[in-house]
Amino acid sequence: MTPAAILLVEDNMMNQKLAKTLLEIEGYVVHVASAGAEALTILDTTIPDLILTDIQMPGMDGLELTRIIKGRPDTRHVPVVAVTAYAMRGDRDRFMAAGCDGYISKPIDATTFVHVVASHLERARANPGVGPS
Ligand code: MN
Repeated sequence: MTPAAILLVEDNMMNQKLAKTLLEIEGYVVHVASAGAEALTILDTTIPDLILTDIQMPGMDGLELTRIIKGRPDTRHVPVVAVTAYAMRGDRDRFMAAGCDGYISKPIDATTFVHVVASHLERARANPGVGPS
C-alpha cells in the first residue's frame, strides 16, 4: 500500500521537528508548512491523506486555514486534526465549528499522537466516497 501522505502545519520549529520525526518513523510521507499560506500553496499541487495543523500561528491561524480547506472542493474531504495546547472544552467546540475532524493536545504524547493519526487515516480510507470524483 502507498504510504499515507500527511501535511503538517506548525510554526514552532521544535514541535514541527518532533511531529515530523514521529510521523516518519511510522512510514508516512510528510509535507511540512510553517504557516497557513504556505500550507495552501502546498495544497495547490499536493492533496494529502491527512492534515495536522497547529492553531496558534502568526498570520493565518489554524482555524482560518481549516475553514479554507473545508471550503475547497478539492480538499474538503481531507481530515483536519488540530494539534494545540488550547484544547479545553470551549476550544474543542471552536475547532469543530471551523471544520476540524479532531484534535491532539500539546505537549505531544508520542503514543497518543501516533494512534490518533492512524485512526483518522483508517477512517478516511474506510470512507473514500467523500473525496473528489
Ligand atoms: Mn504555533
